[in-house]
Formats: sequence, structure tokens, C-alpha cells
Amino acid sequence: MDTLPPSSAPPVTGSGCHGGRETMEAAARAAGKSEAMDRLAKDYPRGPHDQPQSMCPAFGSLRVGLRMRRVATILSGSACCVYGLTFTSHFYGARRTVGYVPFNSETLVTGKLFEDIRDAVHETAKPEDYDAVIVTNLCVPTASGVPLELLPKAINGVRIIGIDVPGFGVPTHAEAKDVLSGAMLRYARLEAEAGPVARPRNLVEGERTIALIGELFPADPMGIGALLAPMGLGLAPQTPAREWRDLYAALDAVAVAAVHPFYTASIREFRAAGRPVVGSGPVGVEGTAAWMDAIAKAADVPAALLDAAKARMLPAIKGAMAGAPIKARITVSGYEGSELLVARLLSEAGAEVPYVGTACPRTEWSDADREWLEARGTHVQFRASLEQDVHAMLDAKPDLALGTTPLVQKAKELGIPALYFTNMVSARPLFGPAGAASMAGIVAAQTGGRERFARMVSFFEGVGTPERAGYGFKSKPEDPPGFRDRQRKLRAAKAKAEEAVGT
Ligand code: SF4
Repeated sequence: MDTLPPSSAPPVTGSGCHGGRETMEAAARAAGKSEAMDRLAKDYPRGPHDQPQSMCPAFGSLRVGLRMRRVATILSGSACCVYGLTFTSHFYGARRTVGYVPFNSETLVTGKLFEDIRDAVHETAKPEDYDAVIVTNLCVPTASGVPLELLPKAINGVRIIGIDVPGFGVPTHAEAKDVLSGAMLRYARLEAEAGPVARPRNLVEGERTIALIGELFPADPMGIGALLAPMGLGLAPQTPAREWRDLYAALDAVAVAAVHPFYTASIREFRAAGRPVVGSGPVGVEGTAAWMDAIAKAADVPAALLDAAKARMLPAIKGAMAGAPIKARITVSGYEGSELLVARLLSEAGAEVPYVGTACPRTEWSDADREWLEARGTHVQFRASLEQDVHAMLDAKPDLALGTTPLVQKAKELGIPALYFTNMVSARPLFGPAGAASMAGIVAAQTGGRERFARMVSFFEGVGTPERAGYGFKSKPEDPPGFRDRQRKLRAAKAKAEEAVGT
């Protein structure tokens, strides 16, 4: 394709995740991205929390691409965004190159940026190195309408996939994982429908498999495999996939388990391939029994096999839960998408769980968990904002708060024992007997520290909190006399002046 005509839309360079969402979205629509924005709005509906309150959402899709073998990743976005994203990806051990096509106002408005991206793709797409090249438009190129859909679909057999992952269209990094997973599944599904495709590694001929959706703790797929084996079922490669040909094997499963329930675009592709989808996950005794029933129904497993599998697996989980009871009041909040399953496991183990908040949206695949929790008096908040999570914690006064970094910080300031959901809870098995036993230990260790927290809070009372934070003070820092009063008057005068302009 030749030089792209200059975009009629003005370049959007001065905004970002701290700019106005409406402004950025309007710019994207004016620049020809209405279809992409409509699809994102449909797949990832907004709620009370409609703006990322955690890391840049594009980190989710970036991580999915970086974890795949023989897949190259190129970002198109503001340098500061790309710096943050590459820093974070290397912090999490990417050990892979992240490609970047820089731009300025001129290359953005003349369409030269698109040409630069196309050149970069041609340069990168070497079949001896890669199966696929992923190009991601971040906020500014999306708002400016950089048309990744006009890139060639393949170069020398290397697949080219362009996605828009703007912070003003994808509310969480969890959902951004789905943006890329869904785009790759779609590509692979169309390839498989068009003719023969590469044989997936480790394919067992004739085996009936279940495909799992969600980034799970490494031991969890094995635990789930142990539940499936007595039903005559194996495990297909997970979504997000680890290499391209895994996508074919996942699409070839007899049924799909949406363990993480927010992968809307991926589920659409599995459904288009004719695969039934099962929600929830095998947590605790009740959750595991219900999940095994649902899987058996979706995969046409004979009743006798199902009964035998349950008779073998459920007593082990029951035993593990009985041996690790939890006696505590716990609030749960996070942005991973597994919050309801964690709350369910805690609740079945004996914990009182008054509140669970997730930054992810409500979908039909979390309905069973929501209903189960609500029937036990838990308030379930989808698209929960940090403010809602904090208020719930203040209201519930838990023995332990599981949550995001700012929530944990707030809890510790108040002397409430707290654990970071992503690092501490997501980094443990959740399913089967291993999951049943894993939570009790950390809950006991943390709630046991409550008295120590209370002593620390009283010892540091009034020190290191907002205005008194810092170092180098010889004594307890105090405000200069009259300072607060003067600031209050200044603010009032400013507000009055703004009001006068408005009338
Ligand atoms: S790409 Fe990410 S970091 Fe950059 S402006 Fe958008 S949401 Fe913010």
C-alpha cells in the first residue's frame, strides 16, 4: 500500500490517561475508530469504575504477547507510556525486546506514523524468527485513528495482528489480555476453517479436552487436570496461549471453562467455533461439585463417569477444607478477575466475607459465583472503584483485607491486617484440594498480627501522615501559624472567581 492520505482529524498529543476520557474517545471516533470503540464498549461495559485505577491497561495485552514463543511485539504510543510499559514488563521478567515506533505531531497528522509502523512490521516479520507480529495502538494513536487494520494480514507467512488498547476504551489490564487473546483466537479460527494448520505440540490424538480461560497459578491447571481425568477428559492449552499452534488445540477442545469470567472476545471466538462455555471454577466442595456437573453436561460425559470422578475427588477437598478452617471476617477486592472465586473459597472454609469488589465487569460466566455469594449475605460489587473498596473496608472492619496496593496501604494505616491480592493471593493454588488448603495459612498468619499493627499505629500516631510526611525534622512537624486559614481563604476566593466567570 502507498502513502496514506493525511488524516482529517487533528492530532491528539497533549492528553492521555490523565486527560479526559470523553475528549479522547470523541477524537478516536472522529478519526474513524467508531467501530473499534463500539466493540470495546460492548465487550467491556463500563460501570461505577470506568477508568483504569491501576496500571496502564495495555500492560495486559503486552504481557500476553511477551509470554508467547515466536511472537514479536511492537508498541505505537507516546514515549512516556511506552517507557512505563516496557519498564513494567521487564520488572515482571519479560526478557524480550519490545518494539517501538515513535511519532511526533507531524508524523501523526500526515499519516507518516502508519507508514513507519508498516515499515517496522515488514522489517520484523521474518518467518525464521516469528509466527506472528503484534502491533498495539496505545491511547494517542488510537485517538488519532492510526489504521492498524490496513496493515497486511501476513508477510511471508508471519501473521500480523493490529489491536487498539486505549485506556479510554479498555477499563482494566485484565480485559486488555482478552483484547489480544480474542484477536489471536479469531485469526487462528479463520485459518483452521480455511484449511490444514500446523499440528499442536503435545497433541494426543483422539483425546477429548477442556480449554481453560484465564492466567492461572502454574499448579492450578494440573489440579484441574486431576479433576477432569476421571471423567475421561484432558486439558487443552490455556488461553492466553503460550505459542501460536496452541490456539488451534484450544479451539479444538470439546468445551471451554471460563475460569476467569471477563474474556468476552475470546469466548465469542470459542462459541463461533461451536464450543460450549462453562462459567465459575472448581473452588471448595460445593463449587467443585457444581463445576464438574457443568463440565460433564457441556462435554457429554456419562453420568457413571461423573459420579465416579466426584466420589474420588470431593472427599479429598472436603478433608483439606476441614483440616484448614478459617475463622475471620475478610473483605476481598482486586482487579484480576478471580476475586469471586477467592471469596467463595474463603466463605466455604468458614470465613465471614461481607464484601467482594472486582474491577472487572459482571458477565454471565460469574453469575453462579455471584448468586452463591449473595445468598450468603456477601455484597458483590462489579467494576468496583478504589473508593468503594475502601469504604467497604471501613464499614466492615474486617480482621483481614485482601486488596490492591492503595487499599492495603490504607488498611495498614488504620491498623487492619491486609494482603496484596495480586502477589499474595493470586500466587497460590485456588482449585481442588491444594486450593482448599492454601488460604488458611496466610489468613491465620496475617490476622495474628492485628495486635502488633495496633501497637505500631499508636506508636506512630500523627507522624508520617500526609502533611507531616518527609524526613529531616528534629521534632514533630507543625503547620506554620495561620497557614491553614490562609489556604482556606485562597481556595474560597478562587472558587468565587470561577463562579463569576461562569455567570
Ligand atoms: S497508553 Fe496507558 S499510560 Fe499511556 S495514556 Fe493510555 S492509559 Fe495512560
